[in-house]
Amino acid sequence: MSVVGLVVARRAGGRSTTIPLAPPACSRHDARRTASLLRAVGRLWMSATPPSMLKSIKQRTLSAANSAGVLSLARGSAWRGRRLLILGYHGVSTDDEHEWDSELYIPPSLLRERFDTLRAGGYRVLPLADAIRQLYDGSLPSRAVSITFDDGAYDFLVRALPILEDFGYPATVYLTTYYSRFQRPVFNTMLRYLLWKARDRALRTSGLTGDSAVLPLATREDREAAFDALARACIAQRMSGSDKDGVLATVAERLDIDYFDLIRRRFLHLMAPDEVARLPRKLVDVQLHTHRHRVPADAAGFEREIADNRREIAAMTGLGAHHTAHFCYPSGVTHPSFPGWLRQLGVTSATTCFPGIASTKSDPLLLPRLIDTMNVSRLEFEGWLSGASAFLPRRPVRASAPI
Ligand SMILES: [Zn+2]
Repeated sequence: MSVVGLVVARRAGGRSTTIPLAPPACSRHDARRTASLLRAVGRLWMSATPPSMLKSIKQRTLSAANSAGVLSLARGSAWRGRRLLILGYHGVSTDDEHEWDSELYIPPSLLRERFDTLRAGGYRVLPLADAIRQLYDGSLPSRAVSITFDDGAYDFLVRALPILEDFGYPATVYLTTYYSRFQRPVFNTMLRYLLWKARDRALRTSGLTGDSAVLPLATREDREAAFDALARACIAQRMSGSDKDGVLATVAERLDIDYFDLIRRRFLHLMAPDEVARLPRKLVDVQLHTHRHRVPADAAGFEREIADNRREIAAMTGLGAHHTAHFCYPSGVTHPSFPGWLRQLGVTSATTCFPGIASTKSDPLLLPRLIDTMNVSRLEFEGWLSGASAFLPRRPVRASAPI
């Protein structure tokens, strides 16, 4: 019997190592052997690799693993069969959002391509609540995946939902409710978008920041500095949501951007309460993401965020407050106190932005998720679906902008 080998060339000195593999066609492969092989690959690369090179090296490693049949082995392994991959998305573009922020937005065509990959690979897309129960009681079907969307943006309704419906895939929407009730653009997100949109212009700050300057917007650093100056001024003046919306309108006017056209298109808005109410219950489950998209570090403040969020969601969906038992940490911010507080509030699962694939050893209140962005290549995506990427070095990915 011939033995297939995965050849891994180490960067340092260009030496190579061959790790022997079971034949890819073997149907009763040894899952433990697959896992140890992938671990060996990950260790090998980690040993000599600066973070800046991780992406290209991971890509080459995955490509070699794919050619050698490792992804296919991992996908069908018992190891993968006991695990759940939770996918996290933020926004699906209605215009050029993905050109502005490729970690927050993907174009609809990419979401469709991802779902094609799920279908072609025989993955079972399960409602998150069912999948988590099945993960811990040992009844998870093989190749299990759950899909989540953070924040509850209007673009979920008009871009993501039609694609979910086409594929018949269920999803959980983690809804942050303040900007659902207050139907104006999400302040931080819209301010960053306006500054990016006007990157060939400059912003006059008189009346906005307490001093009078003309801020350049050409580079990312310029725009972050302008954002900080404007946001700090809003905080210093203890502005209300309406006041901050006035700031957005002024900034847009000075940058020659039609703010009212953005409002008319519900650009960077969240779903309104009546839209949340009309979401198809068979496909979309609305769950907790705090009311104001923040996690206070004190127990009382934290509890208020969950209580307000829960009451609002119950009012919108007509389902009882007990229905909201799943949570996603806003902006992926976690703290050792949070799981205990969530448990006391009747929350049974919480997802993070730590990349990984969930197993029975995962804390249900600190579940890993793959935040899928435009920067995740098709091969990396397949690596995660199969479980193989869990053994490779990884970097944290931002899930959402602070609102
Ligand atoms: Zn969020």
